Amino acid sequence: MPFQFRRTCAIAIASLCAAVASAPMAQAANVLIENVTVIDGTGRPPMERASVLIKDDRIFAVSPVAMPHESGVQVINGAGKYLIPGLIDTHIHLAGGNMKDGKPAFDHHMAVMALHSYLWSGVTTLFDAGHEPDFIFPIRDEERSGKIISPRLFATGNVITVPGGYGAGGHAFLVGTDWDAIRPTLDAYFKQRKPDMQKTLADRHGVFVPLNPSLSAEQFHNVVKLANENGIRVTVHAASEEDYNDALDGGMDNFAHVVRFPSSDALLRRVSTKRVVMTTTLSVHDYIVKLVNDPAFLTDPFFKATMPEEMIHEHKTVDRANFMRPNGNGTQSPFFLPIVAANIKKIYQMGGTLAAGTDRTWGPTLHMELDLLNKNGIPMIDVIKMATLNAAMYLGKENEFGSIERGKLADIVLLNADPLKDVKNFQAIEAVYKGGQLIDRGKLDVPANEKAGTKKK
Ligand SMILES: [Zn+2]
Repeated sequence: MPFQFRRTCAIAIASLCAAVASAPMAQAANVLIENVTVIDGTGRPPMERASVLIKDDRIFAVSPVAMPHESGVQVINGAGKYLIPGLIDTHIHLAGGNMKDGKPAFDHHMAVMALHSYLWSGVTTLFDAGHEPDFIFPIRDEERSGKIISPRLFATGNVITVPGGYGAGGHAFLVGTDWDAIRPTLDAYFKQRKPDMQKTLADRHGVFVPLNPSLSAEQFHNVVKLANENGIRVTVHAASEEDYNDALDGGMDNFAHVVRFPSSDALLRRVSTKRVVMTTTLSVHDYIVKLVNDPAFLTDPFFKATMPEEMIHEHKTVDRANFMRPNGNGTQSPFFLPIVAANIKKIYQMGGTLAAGTDRTWGPTLHMELDLLNKNGIPMIDVIKMATLNAAMYLGKENEFGSIERGKLADIVLLNADPLKDVKNFQAIEAVYKGGQLIDRGKLDVPANEKAGTKKK
């Protein structure tokens, strides 16, 4: 078995959560939400007029019948409301981690605004799929110590590729032919930084710059073995059929993207029959296509509520111009989008495990991903599973969170409208709880609070 994620990690996280719960900035309370429709994230049909009891940071009970009111338990009438697990984005690159001329130009405030945009949007867990370790791991520490209000943050930090390979510049470890030469460096990195999941890159075809060197099955195997010895899972950015097969031959079973090229049914069956989890990342392509063709979508109230005006302006001008360069992402994304969508649909029909992820930087984009998946023919009940339980599975945390089930961390979102009826109803957020703590959305650093004048210092 390539992956035997150590339970001790999950236990360590749980005790951290307990520590956060007792921090003065946010108190976990005992709460009973009754008369509510529960969509539990497992793909099971909704449970109507249910009761969900939260004690401390955990879900204590989920009951199809009314439960007695205990003293010390706040009762919330959930009539006409819907309870879903906190949403999870399995592929982000947190804003604010920029480098300038090879030197850190980190923007901590922007990172916090981005984290708040996710909480505002009902997203309670994130996986950062690649950043400078000096940027992302201190922010992860701040989240876990309760210093900042943030979704649960998991991160890889450095990525791993081969010399001259895809992503070889910047924050990458280069694994050459001499494994023994890099092994001690990687081992030290794992022990010092403790990435939650290590990301590797294999993208031999590129698109307009084809034939990059790429990690071989043997190199994958070495990385996976060393990472697992350190209790760390490994995920792969793979692009083509060949990259996927090499990664699978090397023991990988976790992918940061769905295969992005036309691929054989044999490969799609291979990833669907093994216990492989793949992140969907449709919205990165959709976002780019939209930005190039008509950036008006950024004036949607949901974006404006969370994204500062200067940033919207920058996306419409600087980013758009970048995407429109010859051979830029603006030319590639219209090509990728339908292929990724078709592969997702086939993998879904073959029973594969898909996890929602955006490869973007801001909260509302996960809602774009939900919409794209649903428009691609996946029933909303399964789309929700992809953004909750399957996403937790991608992180190896499905026993800790990702569904509304007894014993799980109480990461939940209360909605005022039925998310199964319309994707816009995911925006009808009444309350967000992380580990049983009610997130005070009025205190989040998002433009909506500035405009409403409710932002408290
Ligand atoms: Zn990415």
